[in-house]
Amino acid sequence: MNNDFLVFGSPAIGDEEIDEVVDSLRSGWLGTGPKVARFEEMFKEYTGAKHAVAMNSCTAGLHLALIAAGIGTGDEVITSPMTFAATGNVILHSGASPVFVDIERETMNMAPGLIEEKITPRTKAILPVHFAGRPCDMESIMEIAKRHDLTVIEDAAHAVETRYHGKKIGTIGDITSFSFYVNKNLCTGEGGMLTTDNDEWADAFRIMRLHGISKDAWKRYSKDGFKHYEVLIPGFKYNMMDIQAAMGIHQLSKVERFLKRRNEIWEHYDRHLSALPFITPSPQENSTRHARHLYTLLVKADELKMTRNEFQERLYQQNIGTGIHFYALHLHHYYQKSLGYKRGDFPVAEDISDTTISLPLSPKLSDEDVGRVIDAVNRIVGQERQ
Ligand SMILES: *Cc1c(COP(=O)(O)O)cnc(C)c1O
Repeated sequence: MNNDFLVFGSPAIGDEEIDEVVDSLRSGWLGTGPKVARFEEMFKEYTGAKHAVAMNSCTAGLHLALIAAGIGTGDEVITSPMTFAATGNVILHSGASPVFVDIERETMNMAPGLIEEKITPRTKAILPVHFAGRPCDMESIMEIAKRHDLTVIEDAAHAVETRYHGKKIGTIGDITSFSFYVNKNLCTGEGGMLTTDNDEWADAFRIMRLHGISKDAWKRYSKDGFKHYEVLIPGFKYNMMDIQAAMGIHQLSKVERFLKRRNEIWEHYDRHLSALPFITPSPQENSTRHARHLYTLLVKADELKMTRNEFQERLYQQNIGTGIHFYALHLHHYYQKSLGYKRGDFPVAEDISDTTISLPLSPKLSDEDVGRVIDAVNRIVGQERQ
């Protein structure tokens, strides 16, 4: 057995990223500067959005999106419980309350048919999450939003490469927030990007990400001479550094190649695991592109004769790191204690939450690594069946 631990979500960093970061370090310009501007231009071109504004995380981006959209105390935002804590937390940070709707079993995305019954006079926005990189049913969501005059803010943390009905994610909803966290499809360590076609919001994002001081405040120390600045509103410290953008520039130029590699790994898993006591991910929907961020197996505990947690532990013992995406948000301590959610509220999300496990899918994985994962799964299944 190969004794190296296979880390889940290990980023694929090449010499290009390393050299570019070193170039930033040598230049002395570490903070928000020309490389952030270049990365934003590239991202704009890649998505086709009118504006792309870099952040220091997707979480920060979602927070600014909610604020720019005027969401605050007493408002409600409809979202999915099958997501990372950040999605719900930022709604709370804005002063609003997250209102969850259950997901569809096949797509693990919020079920559009369940949205309208959750709309109240306080509802201000819908916040869909493109789970694992599979696009939500944006046609239905945009139609509902239009009918009820709601803003659509997309959590595209998994969805840099996602396409839906001929459009890139980042050009459909009112505002979209992407993540470049370590284990995401495009990695800058920490980092994120907001896209929007709304000029006023784009201006607001640029101002609010840097203390609320006047636009292009980062230029105040440049060779163009010291620029005096003014605080327009009490903003945040959400700006991206050039050191991060240095990675992003090269990661973005590799993003399609990385997706191709993850598609190969995905097909490999499908081919070798679908006959075993798991449910493999459903195929991508017509005229969409799945960004293949997470390969989620659902454990059939009765057939496998062990729970998901036991299965995860057995993989760990065989040096295979995995992830859980996600432990449904409404089951977390705060969401139960303070918001009154409980088990039973969203049965589909809970079932996925109890049975899902994400296998390694980094484009860095060699064929041998992928083989090790498949062998380990087979060994565990085989042992149980003896
Ligand atoms: C990772 C993640 C986020 C947060 O991204 P950061 O860049 O770490 O802030 C938000 N939503 C989902 C669904 C995520 O997976």
